[in-house]
Order: sequence, then C-alpha cells, then structure tokens
Amino acid sequence: MQPVEERRPELTLAADLTEQQKLQTRQQCFYGCVFCGSPVFRYYAQPRVQSAPLPAELPGSLSAVLICPLHAKQLRSALLSRNTLAERISQPFNQQRINKPGFSFDPNRRVQVSVGMNTVYADFAPVDSEQHCIWVNGQEFFTLHSESGWLCFSFIMSDASGQTLIKVEKGELQQSPEHWEYSYEVNTLKIRDQQRRLQFTAQLCNDRVLLTKGHFVDLFGDGFVVEGNRVIAMLDGQKGGQYMHRIEPGRYKGGWALFNKIRHPELVMPGNFAFVCAAKRKYPGTER
Ligand SMILES: [Zn+2]
Repeated sequence: MQPVEERRPELTLAADLTEQQKLQTRQQCFYGCVFCGSPVFRYYAQPRVQSAPLPAELPGSLSAVLICPLHAKQLRSALLSRNTLAERISQPFNQQRINKPGFSFDPNRRVQVSVGMNTVYADFAPVDSEQHCIWVNGQEFFTLHSESGWLCFSFIMSDASGQTLIKVEKGELQQSPEHWEYSYEVNTLKIRDQQRRLQFTAQLCNDRVLLTKGHFVDLFGDGFVVEGNRVIAMLDGQKGGQYMHRIEPGRYKGGWALFNKIRHPELVMPGNFAFVCAAKRKYPGTER
C-alpha cells in the first residue's frame, strides 16, 4: 500500500523572518497566497523538493512562501500535493493577475474604499505610504499600505465586546481563533467562525476595497460595526449613530474615525478623515 503520509509536504511556519525577508517573500509571491491569491496569509518555510532547485536569486537560507489558512489546511490534509505546492511556488496565483484586478496598482489611479455604503478614495504617493481607513481612539483597525507599487492590508477585527479576534499585519495573519474558515474568491475575502457564521466580508483588490461585514470595536466599546450597507458607530458599547448616506463619489478622501475625547483628552487625531464620530461633552454618546 502506498503510504500517503510521505507525499504530504511538511508545512512549518517560517519563524523569525526579518521585516526585509517578509517584504521579499511578499514580493516573490505577488502579495497573496500562492494558491488563491488571498491577501491574508501566513509565512511558511518552503519544503525542500528534490526536483525543484531554488531560484538562483534567492539566498539558500531564505525561502518562505505565502499560504492562506484554507490552503495550508488542504496541504496538511494531503488534498494538495507537494508537487502542486512546488508548481505554485514557481508560479504564484497572483502572477497571472498582473493585468487583472490583483494587488499591483497604478499610482495614477485612485483606490476606491467603501465601508458599508460610504465611499472615499485613497491616493497613494509613489513612495511607500499608508492610509488609515478605520481609526478608533488612536488604534488603527483597518489600514491600506502601498509598498513598492503593491497594496497590502492590516486590520483588527473584534467581537461585539471589543476583544480582538483577528489581527492581520501587512497581510500576515498574526492572530485568529482556531478553526475559523478563510476563503478568497472573486476578490472577496470571507471569514467564518467555527459554526460557519459569516464574521467578516471584504472585497480586496487593487482598485477597490469594499468592507461589508465586521466588528471594529475597542475594549471600551468604542468603534464601528459594519453590516451590509450600514456603518454603526459605537460609543461605550451603545449605538452612537448610524451612517447610511450614499456619498457622492469622489467627494471625500480619508476614512472613518471615532474619537472619544472624554476618555482620551490628550489624543491628537491624525490627518483628514471623511467621517468623524466624536464624543465631546455628553457622556455616553448620544443618539443621532
Ligand atoms: Zn489560498
């Protein structure tokens, strides 16, 4: 009998990568999972494959690869073979998306960023820069980064009480509840909990970022809840207001900020935000 175990690629997280090595890996994998292009991934050590020599430009010591949770699971359960992984490493999924929506972007084009029904536009300078899309009391909950002409994402998703469930830093999934399911199809990232209930939905690609589901709330209950078209501002765990306006396209830049000045009197809010929800005098936040 053919032992199945032997064909399974060993899959181990690439520990202790430097920021430079992570950047290099993101570039080599075109900013996504080598199987599906997902912009949320982990860094894995490349398994040694006898027949596939390492690309010449790579130093022998560095060979990490980006793989999303779904495809890491499939590799572990032998639904995907070692050979398929080797093929994908030499031809990452996003390599074929260069002329289709992917994560490389034209600096002359603006990135449309929609949270619920509200839309702003991100202009990135040719140099590496970032745009805060959701900012709550000094904490960045959703940020776009432009990096050498590529777009990547950082976000924190909480539960209703403000406990961090998911943390993604420049695409790297750093924290996630166990057994949650991630899928990335037709530019849409969906995250489901263990009971397969949808907890997060966002279209993520180079000209469009459209967030339609997720909790972005801090430990004091301040933040935003996005549910379909609705963006609900929360103050102290109470609904502080609802943003349901259809915004004239192209009118606003920046993102969504929530600033509880009573709790954070010294805090200075950065830059221009299109939508600001702030608690100033009345406490807790009043219904709008
Ligand atoms: Zn994948």
